[in-house]
Amino acid sequence: MATSKKPAKKSSKAPKKKSPGIWSGLYGPVEVRRVQPYQALKTYICPGCQQEIPAGMGHNVAVPHDAPDLRRHWHYACWDREVKTHA
Ligand SMILES: [Zn+2]
Repeated sequence: MATSKKPAKKSSKAPKKKSPGIWSGLYGPVEVRRVQPYQALKTYICPGCQQEIPAGMGHNVAVPHDAPDLRRHWHYACWDREVKTHA
């Protein structure tokens, strides 16, 4: 048996590889800004969970450097989870 020595870097939680998306470098580094509750004047749909972020709730806005028009508003927790899946 020819066992090649590869660094066992992968954890078991990523079975399939995603091609780079907006949030993993497709449009450059993503800048994350924190939106304070008083700045949240509109309801947004979080792309992480497809649920609403109601006005008045603090959240994150993620802005791709090369495509700022594609910025999205995320729940803190959803963004956190999103970042971890790319880590
Ligand atoms: Zn969410």
